[in-house]
Amino acid sequence: TTAEKVAKFKLNDGRDMPALALGTYLGFNQNGVIKSENKQLRDAVLNAIDLGYRHFDTASIYDTEEEIGEAIKMKIDSGDVKRSDIFLTTKLWNTRHRRDQVLPALKDSLTKLGMDYVDLYLMHWPIGLNEDYSHSDVDFMETWRGLEDAMKQGLTKAIGVSNFNEEQLKRMLEEATVKPAALQIEIHPQIVQKDLVDFAQENGIVVMAYSPFGSLVSRFGMQMPGPKMDDPVLTEIANKYKKTTLQVVLRWLVDRKIVPIAKSLHAKRQAENINIFDFSLSEDEIRKINEFDSHTRFTLPSFWQTHPYYPFDKIDTPIADPFVKSNM
Ligand code: NDP
Repeated sequence: TTAEKVAKFKLNDGRDMPALALGTYLGFNQNGVIKSENKQLRDAVLNAIDLGYRHFDTASIYDTEEEIGEAIKMKIDSGDVKRSDIFLTTKLWNTRHRRDQVLPALKDSLTKLGMDYVDLYLMHWPIGLNEDYSHSDVDFMETWRGLEDAMKQGLTKAIGVSNFNEEQLKRMLEEATVKPAALQIEIHPQIVQKDLVDFAQENGIVVMAYSPFGSLVSRFGMQMPGPKMDDPVLTEIANKYKKTTLQVVLRWLVDRKIVPIAKSLHAKRQAENINIFDFSLSEDEIRKINEFDSHTRFTLPSFWQTHPYYPFDKIDTPIADPFVKSNM
């Protein structure tokens, strides 16, 4: 089956992570997160499982856990997969960073998923927030103790972090009892993240790439400046391997031992995105793609930049916080 063709990367506990995940974030508008309609996401996950996807990336803030869980349970019930064939990642939201809030938060996610455990629980951001989204000063190391508790209780097989910078990751490696198994960050041709990826990998942390297509696709109707699908450098590489430029970009990540999290609700695109395990790029081609690097982020929550644990460089004119009701 295709699932067997998907490469796997070893986590620091010896377990395997499938080297491609299906992303499930549906976006954000004035009313909050965009919801799946008519079970569109459930059906997309069912289709993805048929295509060989075994790794699903969600988060409590995406509000997609229910339909993902529903699809996985349907596939378990029909005998197509076992729970142990699936790698399920979800994330703790910023408003539940106190140590005593972490277990209940994960339990809420598990209830929505209809699962006894997840494979990976990530701290979504190093940033703690209060219920009203004012900044809280909960230290992310306190939050980490909560993730360690959850792991000890068997509610998650592994724990990790997302949107941490190198300094924060360093501190975590020094102070954590359980070392993070994974780091999820934005990576695509315009944000190559060489230093952070090297640092994580040297420390046995598997890196996962969100928004892997970068400027090649538009997201929620937004275009980002940068290489597009018909970029000549990417097209030349794609033609050589009889692949598409999107497949080349995903392969560029896998060849760097990074797990791309590619989101698509469409069957044909899901099939395209998983069809990357029968070729690999040369060192020279990887270097050529690295040259697109312009350190440009899609996910830049500058409204949090006064927070002591804001992980990114600050900008001159931060945008209004979309999570705060009065700004919507
Ligand atoms: P992606 O790079 O996965 O791009 C998704 C967009 O590309 C969608 O518009 C999708 O459209 C389109 N697309 C996908 N495949 C194809 C294809 N083969 N041809 C043409 N268009 C295609 O970006 P995301 O920002 O969604 O990131 C992926 C995932 O990463 C998220 O879903 C989420 O799980 C995770 N994430 C994590 C974050 C974090 O803070 N940890 C932040 C952001 C994302 P369509 O669906 O209509 O096919």
